[in-house]
Amino acid sequence: MPLPPDEAKVVPAEYKALLRTVSAAGQTTRPELVAQSGLPRSSVAARVKELLDGGLLVETGQTESTGGRRATGLAFPPDMGMVLALELGSTHARWRVSTFAQEVVAGAELTVTISAGSRKVLGQVAASVSAALEGVGVSKGAIRACALGFPGPVDFRVGRVTGPPNMAGWDHATLPELMADWMGAPAVVDNDVNIMALGEHRAVWRPEGVDNLLFIKHGTGIGCGIIADGEVFRGADGTAGEVGHMHVAGSQSTELCSCGGNNCLEVLASGKALVRRLRAHGYEVATATEVAQLVLSGDVVAMNAVRDAGRALGEIMGGIVNFFNPSVLVTGGSIGSLGVPLLAGLREAVYAQATMFSTRHLRIVPSRLGRDAGPRGATLLALELAYDEAIRRSMTVDGFGGSTPATSAKARGWE
Ligand SMILES: [Zn+2]
Repeated sequence: MPLPPDEAKVVPAEYKALLRTVSAAGQTTRPELVAQSGLPRSSVAARVKELLDGGLLVETGQTESTGGRRATGLAFPPDMGMVLALELGSTHARWRVSTFAQEVVAGAELTVTISAGSRKVLGQVAASVSAALEGVGVSKGAIRACALGFPGPVDFRVGRVTGPPNMAGWDHATLPELMADWMGAPAVVDNDVNIMALGEHRAVWRPEGVDNLLFIKHGTGIGCGIIADGEVFRGADGTAGEVGHMHVAGSQSTELCSCGGNNCLEVLASGKALVRRLRAHGYEVATATEVAQLVLSGDVVAMNAVRDAGRALGEIMGGIVNFFNPSVLVTGGSIGSLGVPLLAGLREAVYAQATMFSTRHLRIVPSRLGRDAGPRGATLLALELAYDEAIRRSMTVDGFGGSTPATSAKARGWE
């Protein structure tokens, strides 16, 4: 379980900042930690000593550092463990197990039926993880934390699925508990598009200095992940970015949406809507992925349908761009990664709607990570939980951090 915000502060942010830097680099040095973290040299020295004493870092001998000077290398110990990242879609489960240095040890993509319910789907994933880990000689006990990206609204604080009502077998499931039962490690659950936004932002855009970004997942459904000031923005109830049921102005759709409304973006532009439109033209398609394949094969009817979907999406996103002023609008998912023609329709409608001021520096681009965005984001989320757990464990061992002794951690019900 993620820590409630007031308790999370007790885990000193400085330790986590240093562990994040080690994780991204694989191996680093004290001078590099000073440069990356912005912390004073004396703080880094003291924190690193505590992390070494707590067994969360090891020294790895002399290594080349900034400016060609030699410095002692710092890395995670071999027994630090691993994290499990899982992305679920309507018809797929994509998982990977990585070290704390983000090296992928095992992974797979399975076909699942999300409507089969939480126990069936998570059981299927657990069996796949167990078999694969056995194959590479890693014990399941090495997994320290898990993160799951779920294709629907989730209350991130408790990991409870809050809808949609047609997600049978997942309603009101508290997924971290289920995951912990299956995997034997604490888990955190977030909306799938949030983890995709996180993965894309950390891997691609943060290094370019971008801190305000929207990630549109356009597949069977449509959702939007929000990175505001460098962090995922979830809103009061975890439903921020639910653009699927916003109404597209001027649309004359007679189709009724699952929410009971007309003219929802989902009903006009989602993968499901594209399947419906192409079937009306006599095409034998059943999924968003099949629509994407038609577009890739150059089918003109499919390309026009996707361009129209891009326009409907742009009608909604234009207003959101005006309001939120992102630097980048990224599209992902089976339809979203098609590039042109979706982007042609999307750009046309966004630039027609949004003001010159909000689009001056705006880029509208397909995801660079593609199918990797979700697993990458879930790995980062799982690592955050794993750092908390590791720091907390060390605190209870030897009074790590000084101001938060073992008794305090126990009293707070962490153990
Ligand atoms: Zn709707």
